[in-house]
Amino acid sequence: MATASRETLVIIGSGPAAWTAAVYGARANLSPLLFEGEPIGIMLPGGQLMTTTEVENYPGFPQGVTGPELMEKMKEQALRFGTRVVSEAVASVEFGQHPFVLRPSYSPPVEALAVIVATGANARWLGVPNEERLAQMGGGVSACAVCDGALPFYRNKRVAVVGGGDTAMEEALYLAKFASQVLIIHRRDAFRASKVMAERVRGHPRIRVLWNQAVSEVLGYDEITGVRLVDTVTGEHSDLPLGGLFVAIGHRPNTGFLAGQLALTPSGYIRVTSWRTCTSVDGVFAAGDVMDDYFRQAITAAGTGCMAALEAERWLAHKGLGESPVLETAEAPVEEGA
Ligand code: NAP
Repeated sequence: MATASRETLVIIGSGPAAWTAAVYGARANLSPLLFEGEPIGIMLPGGQLMTTTEVENYPGFPQGVTGPELMEKMKEQALRFGTRVVSEAVASVEFGQHPFVLRPSYSPPVEALAVIVATGANARWLGVPNEERLAQMGGGVSACAVCDGALPFYRNKRVAVVGGGDTAMEEALYLAKFASQVLIIHRRDAFRASKVMAERVRGHPRIRVLWNQAVSEVLGYDEITGVRLVDTVTGEHSDLPLGGLFVAIGHRPNTGFLAGQLALTPSGYIRVTSWRTCTSVDGVFAAGDVMDDYFRQAITAAGTGCMAALEAERWLAHKGLGESPVLETAEAPVEEGA
């Protein structure tokens, strides 16, 4: 059996949190090894930004930047400081022992003194015809109104949000600032969203709710022209002309490979200490959308990536592990509620 190589810091993921953690980790001489994942079908490693066309709210890019370009620049920056990148996913981990053991899909296991998990979350999609293609080509289908809703593409058009939870309400209210009309398409006759959010939506003059409707197909070739709806009570079909569709039916954090080795929140995200990135296992940190079901922005993911790398560096120094310099600020992770 192949012997495991010993690493000081391993980062799992390839979105803004992972690359930022790598920049900080590499500049702290921790020589991070980063598992960026593997292409799945037409999906490339790089997280949700790989399917985002224009990013207009990432500071430092006054003219905007495409999601893939932003990821490429972040990767380049991490490589410049010596991050080593493996184009493989981590299939399983053993966090019950130290050094931790990580098992990639194909190559031999790796031992790690500290680990940062930044595997992100994926928006849930409806899985209907044309949805994925139009989302990937910037053709008017999106899973993030805050990311895309202010783009000129959607302005002064009739757009729709699918879902009946708090995210759908929030997205509809946000979109109502730019769109001529916002329709909420919900498959039932009652919202799951909190009362206060639902009331805000109901009272809005530019938002209307289509109850008991499900989207069976997105219409349009290069750009969305509408959706085909099916009435979930009568089974009747109808076509609805639209200039944009926002799918807000929840997210799925990528934690399957952890197989229960880190504590999760009730909604399945990695549980971290408040305002820190420490997880339930000493020496394992989490950053980005895999631990954040609230902000879910590229900039907040990058921020927590920075925090995780600083925490890993300080934890290693505190424990006297690896080559990390002992910092004056070295301190132990705080306990929840401390
Ligand atoms: P969520 O609460 O799980 O709601 C998902 C919605 O999508 C539900 O209404 C569900 O319908 C619908 N849905 C699921 N699968 C569908 C499908 N295949 N086709 C059509 N509709 C489908 O998800 P979320 O809204 O993203 O919220 C996640 C968590 O974050 C919640 O705890 C929420 O309170 C919280 N959150 C809070 C805020 C805030 O406080 N400002 C903002 C956003 C999110 P059914 O109702 O019929 O199941």
